[in-house]
Amino acid sequence: MAYKVLYRKYRPQDFNTLFGQNTIKKLLIDSIINDKISHAYLFSGPRGTGKTSTAKLFAKTINCENPKDGIPCNKCMPCINYEQSPDIIEIDAASNNGVDEIRDLRDNAKILPAFSKYKVYIIDEVHMLSQSAWNAFLKILEEPPKHVIFILATTEIQKIPITILSRCQRFNFQKISVEIIAENILRISKLEKIKINQEAANYIASLADGGMRDALSLLDQLSKEEKEITVDLIQESFGVLTENEVEEIFNCLSKGDIEKLEGIFDEYSKKGLDTNLLISKILNYLYTLEIGIVSGKKHFLSIDQIKTMANELIKCYNKQDALLLIKMIIVSNISQIISQEKNPEIISREIISKPTEVTSEKEESAELKIESKPVISDDIKKIRINNAFVGASKQEKEKFKKSWEIFINKEIDKSNVEMLSLLEDLSIEVVSPTNVLFSIKSSSTALLYNEKSNLIEEELLKSEKINIKTICLTDDEWQKEKKQFIKNKDKEYSYIDEPKINEDVKIIDSALDIFAEEIVEVN
Ligand SMILES: [Zn+2]
Repeated sequence: MAYKVLYRKYRPQDFNTLFGQNTIKKLLIDSIINDKISHAYLFSGPRGTGKTSTAKLFAKTINCENPKDGIPCNKCMPCINYEQSPDIIEIDAASNNGVDEIRDLRDNAKILPAFSKYKVYIIDEVHMLSQSAWNAFLKILEEPPKHVIFILATTEIQKIPITILSRCQRFNFQKISVEIIAENILRISKLEKIKINQEAANYIASLADGGMRDALSLLDQLSKEEKEITVDLIQESFGVLTENEVEEIFNCLSKGDIEKLEGIFDEYSKKGLDTNLLISKILNYLYTLEIGIVSGKKHFLSIDQIKTMANELIKCYNKQDALLLIKMIIVSNISQIISQEKNPEIISREIISKPTEVTSEKEESAELKIESKPVISDDIKKIRINNAFVGASKQEKEKFKKSWEIFINKEIDKSNVEMLSLLEDLSIEVVSPTNVLFSIKSSSTALLYNEKSNLIEEELLKSEKINIKTICLTDDEWQKEKKQFIKNKDKEYSYIDEPKINEDVKIIDSALDIFAEEIVEVN
């Protein structure tokens, strides 16, 4: 028999075996018993909290021919065929988000169910629908056929248009408690003959942070070790951070030891460490530091640095590139510390007067070399900002905005989540025929964008036939540039060609670029 992952194997068969979400369960059962079923539901809440399972159970129960007290009979035709029922249609909006897919759905929904009372559409990650898809969907939601029920599920309710929200009955799924998750872990472990103690079950439950699916997939991985599952084994297998390890990161920070820090992050990357967990641990550590400093202890980080770091780290939760972002946030703090210690004025003067003669800085550069990928240098940054203002107009901006939206939607179609998490928070500030200037709050995301800008420009050219150079500034940088621009409103901006730089210089530029912020400030 093929191995079935625990989460699927123990998917609840009725509301009695669904763990957690007791209030929602009761409301849904009552609505079934009293025959008060609405045509559209919206299930929102964190991932792994049972939204899809609940939706499927609800679909099964309302289609059962002989339900008893809101529990399906498991004997009638719709019950027996429920797993393969053509009347329960699951759609992943992350990959079917376009207007054409929704039009197909609309045509399909008009056809009567094959053998059940209701045709139930479960649309997962519904916030991923494009604007035009929402408009098409709204039409059917306004006048749904009698036999159709929609259950929309989302982790991001704030992205659901208000016109849709107002037409749905809403249920907000909460994180499942550690006790309930641990209870289910112990129950399943007993059935599967997995050896585990209560302490380890609690530990897995706390790592899963309210998600049953995550908890069971952790259990799945651990059970393959064929040893008794203990807290030690869990820490060993997942590289769960101990307090000492977090302290190690901060030791590297204080010493400016980038090489060691790289090593630590490589190790995490290999172990497939849960990045959300890493963020929580670092935040906790920063919090204790902050309290220490407030109560009078000295530390190499200032309160402001701690706050900035914490704010940037919070934004890394659930991001695809989280580990890279966390690393960049920490590294950018290291470079600040080093630049405070060494005399930044001397370095900056040399860089500015002799931008190509970097050999004398080689030792310094090697020490500061963080990424070998070319990052946009400070000079190019300045040129791109300038060129964005040359011939910038509202019309250009509007035109670009439209293409940009189409482009982002295409990226969703390609399920290019990594790219998307980077693109969707950017604000378009200035657009000229040759350049675009974006802004974003987080400096680490701006850094990451500029690192990947070549790739994005290539994609834009391929998919939208737009040949344009881009640059991303932090909100603060953008405000400064804007002020400057308004101040110089009579100045004539003229287009500057970007210099062609060979690879060697680019690599060293990337290291210098990390200094760039401080260098600019010093001058
Ligand atoms: Zn039945």
